[in-house]
Amino acid sequence: MLDRINFLKDEINKANYKYYVEDNPSISDYEYDKMYAELKSLEEQNPLLITPDSPTQRVGSVSEKFLPYKHKYRLYSLDNTYEYDVLEDWYKKIVKEYGEQKLVCELKIDGLAIALTYEKGIFVRGVTRGDGITGEDITNNLKTIKAIPLKLFEPVDVEVRGEIYMPKTSFEKLNEENLANGEKLFANPRNAAAGSIRQLDSKITAKRDLSMFCYTAIFTGTVNNLPKTHYESIMYLKKLGFKTNPNIKLCDNANEAIKYCQSWDEKRFSLDYATDGVVIKVNDLLVQQEMGFTSRAPKWATAFKFPPEEVTTTLIKIEESVGKTGAITPVAVLEPVLLGGSTVSRASLHNFDEVGRLDVRIGDRVYIKKAAEIIPKVVKVIEDEEHFNRPQYLPPEYCPSCGAKLNTHDGEVNLYCDNPECPAKVCARIEFWVSKDAMDIDKVGPSVIEQLYNKGFIKSPVDLYKLSMQDFMQLDLVKEKSAFNMYTSIQNSKNNPLSRLITAFSIKNVGKETANVLAGEFETLEKLKSADIEQLSKVEGIGEIIAQDIYEFFRNPETISMLEELKTLNVEPAPPVKNVYDDFKGLTFVLTGTLQNMTRDEASEKIKQMGGKTSSSVSKNTSYVLAGENAGSKLDKAEKLGVIILSEKDFLDMIKGKVL
Ligand SMILES: [Zn+2]
Repeated sequence: MLDRINFLKDEINKANYKYYVEDNPSISDYEYDKMYAELKSLEEQNPLLITPDSPTQRVGSVSEKFLPYKHKYRLYSLDNTYEYDVLEDWYKKIVKEYGEQKLVCELKIDGLAIALTYEKGIFVRGVTRGDGITGEDITNNLKTIKAIPLKLFEPVDVEVRGEIYMPKTSFEKLNEENLANGEKLFANPRNAAAGSIRQLDSKITAKRDLSMFCYTAIFTGTVNNLPKTHYESIMYLKKLGFKTNPNIKLCDNANEAIKYCQSWDEKRFSLDYATDGVVIKVNDLLVQQEMGFTSRAPKWATAFKFPPEEVTTTLIKIEESVGKTGAITPVAVLEPVLLGGSTVSRASLHNFDEVGRLDVRIGDRVYIKKAAEIIPKVVKVIEDEEHFNRPQYLPPEYCPSCGAKLNTHDGEVNLYCDNPECPAKVCARIEFWVSKDAMDIDKVGPSVIEQLYNKGFIKSPVDLYKLSMQDFMQLDLVKEKSAFNMYTSIQNSKNNPLSRLITAFSIKNVGKETANVLAGEFETLEKLKSADIEQLSKVEGIGEIIAQDIYEFFRNPETISMLEELKTLNVEPAPPVKNVYDDFKGLTFVLTGTLQNMTRDEASEKIKQMGGKTSSSVSKNTSYVLAGENAGSKLDKAEKLGVIILSEKDFLDMIKGKVL
């Protein structure tokens, strides 16, 4: 039993390493899930056998608050510069005293510095940088990040420093979801990573796509062949199972280091993570030791910072846009300007607090910045004489759309229009209803919605289902064919999956992901509607607050009458379909021989449905060979290369209940 548990732990940890550190999946999600489920059930039967390095311990828990933790080894800052001359001077001084030195260049990741402690190869503690002397213990949250190994490949004692970051693509996705749910937007990937890692409920952290690059190791116990250079120590970290940045470079001198910096100044925008510079370190660890530290930074390292991507332009006006929740967002309308390779004419101002802080006035020259951030934002105002002669910008008191007095909501910085009939708000709600993530009524766009609204045809999303072909024909520039398309796309959405309808409801705190979970759990609208808070909060990923929001939504008289209306209009969601699987993602199959229950084309189709690929020839990149009767040379080759061979029955087991 213990052997089996240890075997499963090792296999799952290895698979995590392959997937999250090397970005090179070794087994299918199906195999992974099977092993995980087996381990979990063995541990449930034998709770005494659960160890902290078990992959089942990554799920998270809720803390009251984070406890301060004094670092055993201080985390220093780095001196930094924007100038190559300063780098050269720094190097010259080193050469004078210690002779020519090799330098290691590493991209400076724009994230959150943390320190991880491993005892005998087991992850025991993770602490934020804090002020470098004392940080906060966020071990439970860090455990949810799969790029952080819970157990190393060797039982060493080591303290490792690294940077937690959120990939740019995940940051954009998170902000899109937050925007759709009327929640706060993060200014850049670093803020998103910081906000995610400091969640008291680590289940929230677990949902965010965070990763980590490690860049320093302090070995605290005995290690065979202790690394003598920084470069070697990074390679050793990699060998132990840590994720390190692949763009590390060993340079012979300052000139080479400068070339490295210059090349990344341009290339950095193509990376999926934000980097704001290059860290340059003396490679020889003995020399590092001799050089020592100033009061705040090591003398043997420095950072070259990339020039920020900033340009100036003129602020033409501030648009006050009304969202579906009624939140008013200020948007800067700018004289078009080229920034980071694209023309920008609008930039984010986040909220009216930010507008006040910047003291931005109409007509001002402003700096806008893209750098690591994806949405350009106004970062600074040029406070020339004219700026002070311009009138101060004041947040609106009344809704730009309906004229209602705006309010603040408890503890939020946003201003809200609370008029339920506010045209801009109603249109934004309908726009969200038809959007790709919600009911996906792709033929009906914002301008059509505005016209329908202005003509009095629709006052709520429900009214969409009452529209006839003739109604569409009355809109500008709409001919019979497009009227038919719009009408049909609305009709076709009536039996959309439940998850889409839940998303479309725009329940507070319920975005696409949560809607999927709810639909999977309750299966019908009836069951979801009648669920009590206890049932709701039992659902994975749904805390008490969200449960309360959902409960209240379904007891709101407006919701009740909307649901009745939807029912009479035959808007009835189809039960959840369980064929959205990506178990075979990253896997390549080769088919050979004659199958009994299906043709090879049918089998290929099923593999595709599960996210996999097929290939006609066997190579070392083949994940599986599916072999039917009378399989020929492909089978021999697979055997020679050690590729896993599946019988038709194995294959059917793998896809059972998932594809038709
Ligand atoms: Zn309004």
